[in-house]
Amino acid sequence: MSNETTTRACPECDCAEFRVRSGNSLHGKQCETKYQCRNPECEHEFDEAVRRPVKNSGSVITAKQMLERLGVDPDEAMVGGDD
Ligand SMILES: [Zn+2]
Repeated sequence: MSNETTTRACPECDCAEFRVRSGNSLHGKQCETKYQCRNPECEHEFDEAVRRPVKNSGSVITAKQMLERLGVDPDEAMVGGDD
């Protein structure tokens, strides 16, 4: 039933941009948390990202999605035809 697009986000500020810290074992020291928020105002470190629906308003959409919104067939629009 849920074909809603979801994304993972920082539990602190809801920012969908965070970096994965796992695998970073420099100096033989494991990171204690898996992720760190990339929001400079936040920089929250966490193990479990929250899952939330992708916000439609103001969110970044792909060119294809943009064309679909405008009612343009993406396949047609991608062809740079000059006839
Ligand atoms: Zn955050």
